Amino acid sequence: MKRKINLLIIVSILGLIALSIIQGYLINNTYKLKKSAFITETRRSISQLDDFSPALDSLSDIWQEKFLNNLTDYKYGLAERGDVIDGLEFIIDSINDTYRTEYQKELIKNNIPYGIKFHKKINAIILLDSTKNDTIFDIKKTPKLIVLGDSISEENAHRVSTTTWQTDHTSSRLINGENKEVTFYLLFITQDQMDIENWKSLVFNRMRGLLLLSLLIFAVVIGLLYYSIKSLITQKKIADIKTDFVNNITHELKTPLATLTLATKMLKTDHVKQQPEIIDNTVNTIERQNKRLQKLIDQVLNNSLGYREIKLTKENIAIEDYINTLLNDFELSLNDKTITVNRSFSGKTKTIGIDKFYFTTALLNILENAVKYSGNALVIDCHVTVDNALKIEIKDNGIGISDKDQQQIFEKFFRAGNREIHNVKGLGLGLYYTHQIIKAHQGDITVKSKKGKGTTFILTIPFN
Ligand code: ADP
Repeated sequence: MKRKINLLIIVSILGLIALSIIQGYLINNTYKLKKSAFITETRRSISQLDDFSPALDSLSDIWQEKFLNNLTDYKYGLAERGDVIDGLEFIIDSINDTYRTEYQKELIKNNIPYGIKFHKKINAIILLDSTKNDTIFDIKKTPKLIVLGDSISEENAHRVSTTTWQTDHTSSRLINGENKEVTFYLLFITQDQMDIENWKSLVFNRMRGLLLLSLLIFAVVIGLLYYSIKSLITQKKIADIKTDFVNNITHELKTPLATLTLATKMLKTDHVKQQPEIIDNTVNTIERQNKRLQKLIDQVLNNSLGYREIKLTKENIAIEDYINTLLNDFELSLNDKTITVNRSFSGKTKTIGIDKFYFTTALLNILENAVKYSGNALVIDCHVTVDNALKIEIKDNGIGISDKDQQQIFEKFFRAGNREIHNVKGLGLGLYYTHQIIKAHQGDITVKSKKGKGTTFILTIPFN
């Protein structure tokens, strides 16, 4: 059974791990989908922003005109290739602040609810010729970046669009008194890029419902699993306790029953029938065993009562006299064991309302256990304090109880699993019943113990 439970726990944990991996995989896929949907959506909403803005449009006209002018100079041989790039950078620099401000205004105008950085990056400037193309700028061949707009790091940049501008341009100039005309074909490739601020948290925000739901389902599954395994373990514990109880009670019943069988057999023999003395002895034995059986049955019936079923009849008891008488009677009952019972009293209050019958049973259960679970030189210390509450401490120098067993000793049918107690008779009901009696008095019972050193039970009953 234990192996089965362990196997079940292992399989469940493995199942849970597999489930979390699948769930993680699905969430990751959803994240990727949501991310690309979000970026596509943003791309769509800003892709034509600059086309519809007159301010941005006129800024574009300014730099394009200047740039074409520089290219014309280059074609006339009045400027170098580097001068064209420098000139382009210069004009972009001079309009960039205005461009950025205007762009942000456009974003607000178009109700874009999150921060966006945007730029136009120049990828290539090529002058086309039927014989040989003249590359003025190619981003693949230089580390130089020419951008109009915000600066965006490469890892945060998302592509918005790529534009290829192909145009022919003709202009004439007076050179050395001659009016010369020049035409060139231009290929101009730009790429619009954006950086969406906090895009990760925006995407996660869109997945919030899904994340919460999967977390909830996960928590429910773990909770159910925990609950099922816990009830399985509890049931196994109850089954073990019941088996132990059946074994214990069978063991307890065997001896008196065997004696009764023997005694009845004896009474049937002719030899005994003629001897009234032996008959008397045998009948006494039958009576004793009968009482023992009765006591066992009473123990099972009465000691199984819960505190709600215990009906107390309280009376005012002079506590010191009561404890002294109880301990004296107890000492007298133990004629075959050397024990010392020390007692001490403190506190001002002299009487307390308790049910004498039940309370005596509770104290005797503890005292009898001290005798049952100890060696030969038993010393019991009983200290009674009556101040704000009645507090009785009963300490023995017996075999002690392990920390783990201390958690369970007040449970019904529980008996400690140590080897030393195998020969000691018991049903595991005494301390359960004691606890119930103390609870019926609205009190509390605790235990302090160290294996091999002894045990102390502390009973506290409040004044009502
Ligand atoms: P029982 O004595 O019939 O087994 P109890 O309910 O009285 O049942 O006690 C429960 C268990 O607690 C005992 O089986 C024993 O293992 C442990 N126990 C109780 N009192 C003591 C004690 N004074 N010293 C050591 N162990 C004790």
